[in-house]
Amino acid sequence: MNLRLSHFVLLCFLTVCCLPMRGQHYDYISKKEYDCKKVEQFSTTSSQNTSFQLKFTGLSIQVNPESRNISGSVVYRLNLLVPTSKIWVDLNDTLTCDGVISSIPIRAYRASQHQIEIEWPAPVQGNIQLQIDYHGTVVNTPGFGSYVTAFHDSVPILWTLSQPYGARDWWPSFQTLGYKSDTTVIDITCPTMNSRGDSQTAVSNGLLVSKSHRPDTTSRFIYQTNFKTAPYLIAIAVTNFKQANDTLRTSQGPLLNETFYYPEDTLFYQRRLENLQGFFDVFENLFGPYPFHAEKHGHTQWGRGGGMEHQTNSFVVDMGFGLISHELAHQWFGDLVTCASWSDIWLNEGFASYLTGLCYERLLNGYWYPIWKKGELARVNALDSGSVFVPDTSSVSRIFSSRLTYSKGAMILHQLRWEMGDTAFFLALKNYINDPQLRFSFTKTDDLIGYFNQASGKNWNGYFDDWLYGQGVPLYSVQFQQRGSKVISRFVQSTTHSSVSLFEQKLKIRWYNESKTDSVDQVIEIQQNDQSFEFMAPFVVASAVIDPDFQSIQRTLKVEPFYSDVPVVYPNPMRDQFEIAWAPPTATEGQVRVYNVLGQVVLQQTWPSAKAIHEVNMRTFESGNYFLEVVFGNFRWTRTLVKY
Ligand SMILES: [Zn+2]
Repeated sequence: MNLRLSHFVLLCFLTVCCLPMRGQHYDYISKKEYDCKKVEQFSTTSSQNTSFQLKFTGLSIQVNPESRNISGSVVYRLNLLVPTSKIWVDLNDTLTCDGVISSIPIRAYRASQHQIEIEWPAPVQGNIQLQIDYHGTVVNTPGFGSYVTAFHDSVPILWTLSQPYGARDWWPSFQTLGYKSDTTVIDITCPTMNSRGDSQTAVSNGLLVSKSHRPDTTSRFIYQTNFKTAPYLIAIAVTNFKQANDTLRTSQGPLLNETFYYPEDTLFYQRRLENLQGFFDVFENLFGPYPFHAEKHGHTQWGRGGGMEHQTNSFVVDMGFGLISHELAHQWFGDLVTCASWSDIWLNEGFASYLTGLCYERLLNGYWYPIWKKGELARVNALDSGSVFVPDTSSVSRIFSSRLTYSKGAMILHQLRWEMGDTAFFLALKNYINDPQLRFSFTKTDDLIGYFNQASGKNWNGYFDDWLYGQGVPLYSVQFQQRGSKVISRFVQSTTHSSVSLFEQKLKIRWYNESKTDSVDQVIEIQQNDQSFEFMAPFVVASAVIDPDFQSIQRTLKVEPFYSDVPVVYPNPMRDQFEIAWAPPTATEGQVRVYNVLGQVVLQQTWPSAKAIHEVNMRTFESGNYFLEVVFGNFRWTRTLVKY
């Protein structure tokens, strides 16, 4: 799902002027939805169910874009893997269950607390068929608007968006993550024409297998998909759509590309293929064939901001580069391989966001790539806390935090690519997305980490502990000094959140001369909170930029030089401790001594030559005057110290 300009934001911020502007290619996701108040606690009651396979789903509904009334039935064929006496199906209490018919007669059913509890007289096992009839008026529920009746150009339109907990709002479903139906039939009956006389078309997932007009002025559209589909990825839309069919080139041959668009929106029609072939080429090259080639790829226009990756048929507001690449990416990351828990939603959204970045890198001459990375990092840095992993899945706004789930999710992938190198990184992703255990099924973060460990030969569990489960970002204060061609720097890392005391990371530093006409790059590995480095610069260094290519998550507080031929002591006078900043002149280690006024040595320490800064703690000493002595080989230097 793409959150841009969402109605969800509109609900939370009633003034339209709060909405962000959109760039030409770089689509800005508002961070504001992160701050939306928590919505109602969602119960996903079908999670009580014992293990079963969902072999077939047949949804048959009567709908009308000019009404919120719905009626219909759903037929399930299940293979109950263990003896089962009860089963629960999610259905919002505002809808009425009219009856349950089972191939093995049931004892009773009860509808309450957004679930239908179906009970057999004795435990049953193996293949059964259930039919649930229902009707009612669909209410508006918190979240993204699971069942929306609206208008475009004064024409009524209906669309659905079930992620994460909205399927039950309009059909009896097993909406808990963990079930994908082998085959799904969506049978939609709607008025042939709306009250204005516009001819209506219903769209859904998979292929249209039947379309008929009845004498009673209703039309029936039957769609079927034979790919395993999670209930939240099933959707319908009805309005006076026009349809354009095109053919895309894929590694498996020609692919049907359907576009359903508003008749008045010629721009949508004109842009329907813009960059789309390029996106397919990028993703197929990196991750393998488009998963649903045997059926189709499609876009359906809707009025909600952003998009939703309904399997084989993404609903989108426009054909923008960022939006279309994001939703197409989901066909692999989200639809083919789906997060097993909303806590791991970053496996859908972080990936889709990053794959947009990969399109910016590989298309349009890469012009927008640094701009995209810079924008994502700025969003990550907008606040100091919060983890990519979602600890509270009862909050829809938290699940879909644009800053954490989308931007930080994308950038921890990008940073990992920088850390392990392109070869291992993309090999891991290709192995992950092609894992037969995960394809057309569900995944969790540990599955992904396993592939990173395997492809790189290194253990990245600690990386994910810090960046995925931990909160915050590293902050850097850098000081440097040059002696001859040797540049010595000291990196002090603090963190914005106590959950992580040290972010180990690989950093690129770009050192510049005074006029910035020359630069040289240094790559360092941060392994301590206070660490010194040195390198040889071919010019006089005047400034530096940490992470000039936007590869790392970090925030630079300051990079400042120490210009001095002799050590600099600060603070002095001091209370508890002081620092000596300097580039020692020899490769050998030096000595730091503190004398009292009687000339007695009261403190002696070794100063490794590699460190540009040396700290001395005198907290336990009495106030008064002291003498500091620094000795490196033949070099000797003294200074009076005052402790107060
Ligand atoms: Zn998305």
